[in-house]
Amino acid sequence: MTEQIQGIREHMIINGKAVEMSHGERIPVYNPATGKVIAHQGEAGAEGVDQAVKAAHQALTNSEWTQMLPAQRERLLLKLADLVEANGDELAQLETTNNGKLLSMSYGLEVYSGAQWLRYMAGWATKVSGDVLNVSIPFPPNTGYHAYTRLEPVGVVAAIVPWNFPMLMAIWKMAPALAAGCTVVLKPAEETPLTAIRLAELALEAGIPAGVFNVITGTGEVTGAALTAHPLVNKISFTGSTEVGHIIARQAAQDMKRVALELGGKSPVLIFDDCDVEQAVQGAANAIFFNQGQVCTAGSRVYIQKGIYDEVVKGIAAMADQMVLGSGLDENTQIGPLVSARQKARVEKYIEIGQGEGRQVTSNTSVPEQGFFVRPTVFADVDIGARISQEEIFGPVLVANTFSDEAEAIALANQTQFGLGASVWTNDVNRIHRLVPAVTAGTVWVNTHNMLDPHMPFGGFKQSGVGREHGKSSVEAYLESKSVCIAYNK
Ligand code: NAP
Ligand code: MG
Repeated sequence: MTEQIQGIREHMIINGKAVEMSHGERIPVYNPATGKVIAHQGEAGAEGVDQAVKAAHQALTNSEWTQMLPAQRERLLLKLADLVEANGDELAQLETTNNGKLLSMSYGLEVYSGAQWLRYMAGWATKVSGDVLNVSIPFPPNTGYHAYTRLEPVGVVAAIVPWNFPMLMAIWKMAPALAAGCTVVLKPAEETPLTAIRLAELALEAGIPAGVFNVITGTGEVTGAALTAHPLVNKISFTGSTEVGHIIARQAAQDMKRVALELGGKSPVLIFDDCDVEQAVQGAANAIFFNQGQVCTAGSRVYIQKGIYDEVVKGIAAMADQMVLGSGLDENTQIGPLVSARQKARVEKYIEIGQGEGRQVTSNTSVPEQGFFVRPTVFADVDIGARISQEEIFGPVLVANTFSDEAEAIALANQTQFGLGASVWTNDVNRIHRLVPAVTAGTVWVNTHNMLDPHMPFGGFKQSGVGREHGKSSVEAYLESKSVCIAYNK
């Protein structure tokens, strides 16, 4: 028996229809706050992938979708944003029940930001334009050339997302893809399929034609792999671990599919002694503990200038020890559960490794009996070469150490395979301008961390990925440029 929770769907959305199928056994979906099964999802497998990709391909061939004016696509995305907000209570409850995050975060980040991203991307539908090219082709005489570029939708997009921001990540991919005129087959993470299915239903309600936005469920190994290998997929847009990013990059290279990869991180937080210390302590704690540390740009390494090291470490540890763990549905909760038993085991393993690599400065170890809870944990004096300094933990675990000057802070920040985010805490304007170019990360925050906006490009240097989402770049990522050259008699 599964709990009765509003909005739960156990089907996929293919070609505008609810489809029940499973290649093999159905996969349980959990409430991480209780550890109980709340639903079962099907494994789309090769057959479900084929149906969904063919539907998306069909929707691109001389269809209602391709004939639609850009302004109509814009209106449909705006309508979807309104529907996301109108159904905000159900979607937020569903997200918290399935992912564990605080209800306020589900409202703020999945529903409100989701709608904000949809509206921003809707606006791009009417702003895609090529260039008129002033060419210098001299031959034959008396011939002129009118050259220009057309930006055309790249085609069928395979979108694969992780479980940490389930609906927001789905929107980050489908909204710019649809604004560009593409069609999408989305595979949510097996842990968190529920809001993506509701999003596909709301897209149909908004009037987005059948086949344009399909959601299939299942595991990465089976359904994800079949999706990325399907010959009718033109572009793969993936967010997830660096490890799976490598597998996807290989598949894309083999088929020459277009690919965008938003991968892992180990983002540094650099705190200088001229900063507002109280603000930096609060900021560093939020940077790692927000969403239980399950954030690709989580500030998981904090480097603190020597004079204020003890004060800052003590401040963050005190905040960590006081944090209230509980269900995301309880308004007193500050830290919800991790997404799965597997993620809890992974984070606990890293805490065990950390006890041999650093000095644990948090002392409160009590966790609720049920559910997948891990206490926020801080390790001080951790060497840069330690595993907990180098490997992405994706949980509420912070490593701290000192630096003496800017050069050392920069060296520590950059001594990682990743390059997704970084923050610098200082009140020296000159220092800010020296640090920003020196830190190798796709986003550098100053006196803040984890602040995103649909107009700010987002993505990684180094092993953190290829390509940028948001802003103009996200729509461009779903377009192919075609050069046109028309000869005319002069
Ligand atoms: P993951 O294991 O890489 O999975 C991400 C998605 O890929 C899931 O939907 C997964 O399916 C699917 N997948 C797994 N193997 C696949 C394969 N062989 N072919 C196709 N798809 C496959 O990552 P995760 O554990 O869900 O999420 C945590 C990771 O995501 C962290 O490393 C984090 O840094 C990264 N992340 C990055 C960003 C960013 O924007 N840069 C944002 C959020 C998270 P199943 O899980 O359903 O099997
Ligand atoms: Mg997974």
